[in-house]
Amino acid sequence: MPSDQLAPQEWREEDIRTLVEPIVVAAARQLREAKLPDLQQEAFPWRVERTPYRLFLAEFLLVRTRSDIVARQFEGIVAQFPDVSQLAAAPENALAAALEPLGLRKRVPLLSRAAHYILEHHAGQVPGSIEELLKVPGIGSYTAAAIAAFGYDGYEVLADVNILRFVSRLTSLPMNHPTKGSDQLRCLLPLLSQGQVGPSPEKLLDFCRLICRPRRPRCEACPLQDSCRYFARLRSA
Ligand code: SF4
Repeated sequence: MPSDQLAPQEWREEDIRTLVEPIVVAAARQLREAKLPDLQQEAFPWRVERTPYRLFLAEFLLVRTRSDIVARQFEGIVAQFPDVSQLAAAPENALAAALEPLGLRKRVPLLSRAAHYILEHHAGQVPGSIEELLKVPGIGSYTAAAIAAFGYDGYEVLADVNILRFVSRLTSLPMNHPTKGSDQLRCLLPLLSQGQVGPSPEKLLDFCRLICRPRRPRCEACPLQDSCRYFARLRSA
């Protein structure tokens, strides 16, 4: 059987390099260039005015709450706590009252600890390296990567489940794990980065959430039909 017809589970490292990586690179380039009128350009406030502090706060709030709900409350919270030092100085009951409408009361002590940590270790400036961000209480790998990517134009592509699912569909490599994906998939993510040939982090995230969406991907609106193995299977079914 020719190697491009191998079942995905039979792919060897060499097949990944020669057959799969070019598909991902081509898709990254196409996505970067594609105009996607069907993609909702969601003007979330932390994207319109993008600073590391606003992104830190937004990502912290978004861990447990839908983005449209956070968006409605966001500017009010920033006005009340405009920087890390004022966040750290805020009494916990004031923070609790601000986060109550988001259902995030329980995250108040963690947010307060995170602010104190940044104040103490980084003079109130949200750090830009993933390594340093991961030391901040309450910041996990997704949030650290998001702050580095959006706040500091870091090149790392988030190991987000929607992005991993898109790469899995594009290449036919199996997810293996429902949220973390497989090692093979995660190794392909840097090829999608803006620093290589890929789209902006926001465009990639929006594409994966709204077009190559979790259920019923909108293949009819997708510029990657010709290179996507999932679409090829749909067409031949
Ligand atoms: S063609 Fe469909 S499955 Fe493939 S990347 Fe586009 S939306 Fe996703």
